[in-house]
Amino acid sequence: MFKKSKKIISLIFFIALTLLFTACSTSNTDISNNEFEKYKKEDQLNTLDNTKSNNDNIIKVHFIDVGQADSILIQDSNNNTILIDAGNNDDSDLVVNYIKSQDIDTINYIVGTHPHEDHIGGLDSVIDNFDIGKVILPKATSTTKTYKDVLLSIKNKKLSITPAIAGKSFFLGDAKCEILAPNNSEYDDLNNYSVVIKLTYKNNSFLFTGDCEDVSEEEMLSLGYNLKSDLLKVGHHGSNSSTSLSFLKSVSPKYAIISVGKNNKYNHPTQETLDKLNSQNVNIYRTDELGNIIATSDGDNIVINKASPINSTSIDTTQYVYITKTGKRYHKKNCSFLKSTTIPISLKEAQKSYTPCSKCDI
Ligand SMILES: [Zn+2]
Ligand SMILES: [Zn+2]
Repeated sequence: MFKKSKKIISLIFFIALTLLFTACSTSNTDISNNEFEKYKKEDQLNTLDNTKSNNDNIIKVHFIDVGQADSILIQDSNNNTILIDAGNNDDSDLVVNYIKSQDIDTINYIVGTHPHEDHIGGLDSVIDNFDIGKVILPKATSTTKTYKDVLLSIKNKKLSITPAIAGKSFFLGDAKCEILAPNNSEYDDLNNYSVVIKLTYKNNSFLFTGDCEDVSEEEMLSLGYNLKSDLLKVGHHGSNSSTSLSFLKSVSPKYAIISVGKNNKYNHPTQETLDKLNSQNVNIYRTDELGNIIATSDGDNIVINKASPINSTSIDTTQYVYITKTGKRYHKKNCSFLKSTTIPISLKEAQKSYTPCSKCDI
């Protein structure tokens, strides 16, 4: 009798288990919380140098104005690129268009510093719209739709995740990128999982800190990393949770960039952080005051400019072209052949059944 009931229990358990696994495998669009592990590929960053050498000796770092968020595009003369963060979900088009405006179709490395929306919000769109080399993420998961959307885009593109491991480095052309954080696997605050990258190009260096806070700063200091950098992307939008004086002194930057939204509800950057930067004679540049900012390095000097906003009319934002009711060609929006009818159609669709207009040079 006892034996029989044991058998039944085993059977029920087996059926339940089978049902569970069947349910999991049929819902292939549902990304569960530990999907990070599924897409993770333990390849070594050191071997990832698949970018071309930088002949023309310039590195451009674009701090894209995404309001209260971060998005940084790093580009060398050969169009080798890194994108660190992609703003909020609402910034998706802006970030994609900005990158397109730089004649970029491949992003060699995408870094999502940590799973907060103001950093990874637009990452899914970027992954969808460009050829992607490596996706570097910290080992921090989130249950938000935003985070799941990023994982879904990674999955759809058949990419894998390269975990951010402190101490590893990779190259963008001639520029060395060292991962300095995160240095722990369990933090109370997601901000401290932020991937911190130091980029060194000849005699110039840049430190990108995401939203890392004093806890992570302290770890980098105690591990003895060489933090000295010419330019510091100020941590966590200038919040007083970051940029401790000892960290700032170690970095000892000439320039500080604060990526921050006008009149944001957090009152970032805080006066405390601004005072600290001023006390160390750091030149401060803010996206809420300047819009897009470009820092250009020739390996010896860094020049910082306010970039003109991208001209949205010159960018093929939607990849739409136009046809007429009877014509066999597709055109740019303002082509003079489009006098009678103007029917929008996606470029992809148009290419199937139409030929490009020779007049509007599309
Ligand atoms: Zn943030
Ligand atoms: Zn954050």
